[in-house]
Amino acid sequence: MTNLIPKSHPRAQSLYVRERLVHAFDNGLVAKEGLMAHGRGEAFDYLIGEKTSKSAKNAIKAAAFALVSAKYPVISVNGNIAGLCPKEIVKLAKAVNAKIEINLFYSSNKRKQNILRTMQKNGAKEILGVDKKNSTRISGLDSARRIIDKNGIYVADVVLVSLEDGDRTIALKKAGKKVITFDLNPLSRTAQTADITIVDNVVRGIKELIDTCVKVQKKKLQSMKFDNKKNLAKSISEIRNYLERRAKIA
Ligand code: ATP
Ligand code: MG
Repeated sequence: MTNLIPKSHPRAQSLYVRERLVHAFDNGLVAKEGLMAHGRGEAFDYLIGEKTSKSAKNAIKAAAFALVSAKYPVISVNGNIAGLCPKEIVKLAKAVNAKIEINLFYSSNKRKQNILRTMQKNGAKEILGVDKKNSTRISGLDSARRIIDKNGIYVADVVLVSLEDGDRTIALKKAGKKVITFDLNPLSRTAQTADITIVDNVVRGIKELIDTCVKVQKKKLQSMKFDNKKNLAKSISEIRNYLERRAKIA
C-alpha cells in the first residue's frame, strides 16, 4: 500500500479503507461492481460523520445478543468483506462459534478461490460455499446468486450478511432466517428488510461487534428489546442532525 496519505489528512481513515479495497481489487478479490458499491457506502459514511453512531451501537448490541444466542450462526463473506476485514471476520466467527460461507453476487470460481486463500491466510480453518458437492439453492433468486451451502446458510438460524443486495436479503428472510447486516445506507432494501441493521462502516463496526459479543458471553450486558424500524428512523434523524450542524458551520 502507498504511504501517500498523511495521517493528519482529515479523511485519512476513509482514504486508507479505499486503498485497501483497490488493493483487494488488484488481487482479484473484489469485482468492479464491488468498487462502485463501496463508493455508495463512502457517500453514506460521509453523511454519518464517519463515526459509529448511537443507533449503530444499539444495533451492534442487539446483533451480539442474536449471534451469541443463535443455534447455528453463519457469517456470509463477499469480495468487499474479504478485502476489508478478513481478520475480524475470523475473530468474530471464533467468538460466537459461527461458520463462514463465501457467497458472491457476481460469482466467479477464480475470485472465490482468491477469497478462500485470503480467509485462510487470516486464520480461517473451515470455509463453506466452495465445495460444489455441498451446494443447494435458495428460492426466489436467479442463477448463481441462489447457490448456498447445505452445511451453511441453508441450515442457519441467524445469518450476518454485509454489504448485501436487497434481493438476496429478502430471499433469506423468506427462508426464515434472522438477518443481521452492516449497511451504511439506512434506506437500502437490505437495511429495511433485515432484522438488525447496523448503519456503520463494517471496518469500524465489526471491532465493536466482536468486543460486544465477548461482553455478552461474559454476561456483562443485560438482554434488550430491539425494533429495527425505530432504530433505522433514529439513524436517519442522526444524519439529519449532523447535516444541520455542518450547514451551520459552512
Ligand atoms: P439494496 O440492493 O439493498 O437496495 P443497493 O442496490 O443500493 O442496496 P448494493 O450494491 O446492492 O446497494 O449493496 C451494497 C450496500 O453496501 C450499499 O447499501 C452500500 O451503501 C453498502 N456499503 C458499501 N460499503 C460499505 C462498508 N464499507 N460498510 C458498510 N456498508 C457498506
Ligand atoms: Mg442492490
